Amino acid sequence: MRPIIDHLLDLVFPPRCAACRAFLEGSERHLCVPCAETLVVPEAPLCPRCALPEAEGFCQACRESPPAFTRITAAFLYGGALSDAIERFKYQEARHLAGALIALSQTAARAAFEWSTLVVPIPLHAARLRQRGFNQALVLARPLARQTNRPVRPEALVRTRATRPQVGQSRTQRLENVKDAFRAEPCAVQDARLLLVDDVVTTSATVREASLAAMRAGAREVRVFCLARAFEG
Ligand SMILES: [Zn+2]
Ligand SMILES: [Zn+2]
Repeated sequence: MRPIIDHLLDLVFPPRCAACRAFLEGSERHLCVPCAETLVVPEAPLCPRCALPEAEGFCQACRESPPAFTRITAAFLYGGALSDAIERFKYQEARHLAGALIALSQTAARAAFEWSTLVVPIPLHAARLRQRGFNQALVLARPLARQTNRPVRPEALVRTRATRPQVGQSRTQRLENVKDAFRAEPCAVQDARLLLVDDVVTTSATVREASLAAMRAGAREVRVFCLARAFEG
């Protein structure tokens, strides 16, 4: 049952698809049917560590340089309507889209959040935060953590320097770009089963560095939850 207030809001602001903005009909929630059909849930076989599809056991990158995190859980593969919804959410200040993205990912998120004792969003550097006005990872992490009664501590991890956007850079450049870019607070992460949250994970360079900082500061184990897992072509 949806609360009455939701039905009233629907009358004033008819719900629209989070990706293409079409008005939703009937049983459609958050996405229209054509957009919902473009969602892809990652399916086995996946690398048990970084969720790379079609891997036979651990993928080459995880074998050659094992990351400090032990698992990435992705609600979806990046692409289709989801990428439109995420881009609009991040760059057009369409923060109301967060509700749709959270609702779409909460089933996939549950086990990852329940495993954790501490939830930490990937921080933005202060300059980027001022520019965007919000940290999209925190906006996603908070309600998902609330649903599973897990504490969120954004201050447990800080970005110690600005990094260039990772988009359009090679894997080597991305790793170099984020090297030593994070510092974790030992008193906050000590002995924690720490779940890092980000909207999109691509090369995993960012979550690799953030996990390393958390492990160095005394976390017991680090895993990652992301809305969408992207892979370079
Ligand atoms: Zn749509
Ligand atoms: Zn892997």
